[in-house]
Amino acid sequence: MAVDVLQRYRETGALLEGHFLLKSGLHSPYFLQSAAVFQYPEHARALAGALAEKLRPFSPDFVIGPAIGGVVLSFLVAEALGARALFAEKDEAGGMFIRPGLVVRPGERFVAVEDVVTTGGSVKRTVAAAARRGAELAAVGAIVDRSPEPPDFGVPFLALVRFVPETYAPEACPLCRAGVPLERV
Ligand SMILES: [Zn+2]
Repeated sequence: MAVDVLQRYRETGALLEGHFLLKSGLHSPYFLQSAAVFQYPEHARALAGALAEKLRPFSPDFVIGPAIGGVVLSFLVAEALGARALFAEKDEAGGMFIRPGLVVRPGERFVAVEDVVTTGGSVKRTVAAAARRGAELAAVGAIVDRSPEPPDFGVPFLALVRFVPETYAPEACPLCRAGVPLERV
């Protein structure tokens, strides 16, 4: 299924253009706010459905995503694949955990999904939480791969689109030089 990811992000205000201070401390003319596209169920289903088709060959028993951003995506991909939908949450030690009531059986195969992968850190912590309960990662899926260098998950990493916006150190930022107001995101 062909799905124009960035067009859907743009239409729904999920691809913001301006001058943004990213969590990394770098400045960028673009920011992706996936929650803005996922507020529209028809867009969410189209994007998740396309990602599910890429992940179908891995026949996962469950799909898991990091809360909060990965919850809806995990649910919709799992629904499309006939798998269970799980999520992992941040713990107090800076890792992720899976609530005790959620089923993870030793030896089960799973795929991990996230809306936008930048460093892959939260996906890796999510994968670690499922691996601690004995499940085996089969693949990682993302709507948007915006990693400057694709992270190594040790399994196939599939994204609907690769979009790597420019980023600048504050002292080298042309938007700062041009006096464009900086927004924290
Ligand atoms: Zn700047």
